[in-house]
Formats: sequence, C-alpha cells, structure tokens
Amino acid sequence: MQALAVFPSKKRVDLLDIPEPRLNGATEVLLRLREVGLCGTDREIASFEYGDPPSGADHLILGHESLAEVVEIGPKVRSLKPGDLVVAMVRRPCPHPECRACRAGRPDFCVTGDYTERGIKGADGFLTNYVVDDEAYLVKVPRALSDVAVLVEPITVVAKAVDQASAIFARLPYDTGPQRGLALGAGPIGLLGAMVLVADGFETVVYSRDSEESEQAKLARSFGAQYASSNTHSLESLAQASGKFDVVLEAVGFAPLMLAATQMLRRNGVLALTGVPHEAATAELNAGRALRNLVLRNEVVFGTVNAGRRDYLSAIQNLEQFMALFPESVRELITDRVPLDEVPQMLKQKHGIKNVVRMSRAA
Ligand code: BGC
Repeated sequence: MQALAVFPSKKRVDLLDIPEPRLNGATEVLLRLREVGLCGTDREIASFEYGDPPSGADHLILGHESLAEVVEIGPKVRSLKPGDLVVAMVRRPCPHPECRACRAGRPDFCVTGDYTERGIKGADGFLTNYVVDDEAYLVKVPRALSDVAVLVEPITVVAKAVDQASAIFARLPYDTGPQRGLALGAGPIGLLGAMVLVADGFETVVYSRDSEESEQAKLARSFGAQYASSNTHSLESLAQASGKFDVVLEAVGFAPLMLAATQMLRRNGVLALTGVPHEAATAELNAGRALRNLVLRNEVVFGTVNAGRRDYLSAIQNLEQFMALFPESVRELITDRVPLDEVPQMLKQKHGIKNVVRMSRAA
C-alpha cells in the first residue's frame, strides 16, 4: 500500500510503498482510510519546520485529520464493528505515571510534553491506505455525516476552545444575554469556529486578510456571519465601527495579530488563542494598557491545543447542527479533493479553503 512521508533529515516528501498493517492486540481495530484533511500543520511539517518521526525511524507518515472505515476488529473490541465510520484522535498519552492529565485520559492537557501525536510528533499519521489503532482512540461518527466527517478533527480544536470559554463565562454571576463573537482568520479553523459561534447564537464577525469578495468572505456570509477584511479595516477600526466582542477565537498564528486581539474584548470577555506563531516572531504592544485592561476589565486570555474525547463528541454534535442549519456552507468549505499522489504539490501550494485527500471510496 502507499503512504506519504516526510524525511526531515533528507528534506524530502515522498510517496512510499509499505506493508499493510495487521491486528496484534485484542482491542485493536484495522481501518481503511476514506479521507484525510490537510492543514497548516501538515504544510509546516512538509517544509521541515517541525515534525518528529517515530523513534528510530527516518521518516514520518503525514496526516492527522482522518476519516476511516472499520475493516476488522480484535476479539475484545466492544464499541465498533466492521463498516463503522470513525475519526481517530490525534494525541496519545505520555508514559509517565505522574502525568495526571494523561492518566486521566486527557493527553491534550499532558503536563510532561512527552505525548505523541499521530502524523505530527513521534507517531505515524493517516496518509496511507490502512492503519491499525486501539479502540480507545477511535470515535464513531454517524453515516449521515460521511461526506463532511473529515472536518471533525479541526472542529475539535474549536470545540475545546469554546468549551473552555463557556467554563470561564460560567464565573459570571449574571445571565450574559446576547453575545458578540469574533473569529480571527478565515482558514478552516477560523470558519469552523465562526460556525460554532453562529450556531450558538452569537452575532459573529470573521476577520481575515482575504478580500471582501473572496470565497472565504462569501462562505462566512453564507452561514450568517459578517465578514471584515484586513485590506479595508484595521482591527482597531473594526472595533470602533462595530464594537468589541465577548468571545474572540484566534486562528491565524501571526504574533502581532494575536497580541492585537487582546484589545478586541468587551469587559469580562474571553480570548482563545489556537494559532501557533513562529517562535522568532516579535511584535509591539503597549504592555501597560494591555495588562491594565486585563485586570480592570476582568478579561481572560488563554491558549488551547488539541482536544479530548469529549471535544470529539461535541464536534460531531456541532457538525450535525451545522448540517441542519447551513449544509451547503459546510460542503463548500471543502474546496478540493485530491488523490494521494497530488499531495506533495498541494502541500507546497495552498489552494481554496479545506484540502482533502481521497484515500478510498465508500465500500
Ligand atoms: C492539530 C492538533 C495538534 C496541533 C499541534 C494541530 O494542527 O489539529 O491535533 O495538537 O496541531 O501539534
């Protein structure tokens, strides 16, 4: 079977022929990949910015946004059967007994940093025809979502952010009433985040560098968000023109914008940062004003990465809700579906909004 791998030491991205995996353990599941989504993380790994092969290997099979079909199950698998559709979780626990997060089944909050992530850090990913995984890391998705379920993993990132933002809002001793939300970035995470906000009843604005006529802008408007382009508005002028926000979901990973986002909050507001900026990035900020506001306005800024099983379950519910409210917008977010051999080119050149690799057709 084929696989797409990154060789960091050789600075190469290649298609490989590898043997098909087999079931070993009683709780293992053999999966046939249906679709794999590509994102900024894959592009950064394919340009050798990061990404670690499994220990002892010289290459890392890419791909962490999966949708697969169960082919065979081990004798102790209870929750899945052949034919089921599943999404595999990305992060796997560290081995340290003292890591309470991993031991509690939440490696997304791992405290040692020794977790692995399939397709990203120390474990092979899903850009191949078949994989074996443990039942514990698989989440079943309804068949009715099969054409869009490859979006579940990216939705988990915003589902976890919104879950934490809601927990922070729960500290307020009054009913907040109608709220305003801002999604920064019109890539898949920004747009999916905006969908969650719209579906939750927020008056929602998407802000991004794409023009007001771009497909991103049209898509944002199609599901009920407003759109503002950085070509025509600075963040400051957006706040002056339309007001500030109770929730800001950042999904750009550009350090100056991330800092500027701290100035977009209404009193008691929450900023969730999900973009991963370059380590060397610098930006200026009036620190006194920013920190003063944080204190005097009860603001909260937090970073969030990856997701736990409950976020996968929420993401599936979100996707069902989106498909009831604005199914065409969800489908239009997936702009490109390509075969595996076109991935090296697609990783070099971003096209459209969400790029998906078609691994196999419905059985
Ligand atoms: C993935 C997460 C992962 C993060 C950091 C993101 O692209 O969606 O699952 O934790 O990258 O590696």
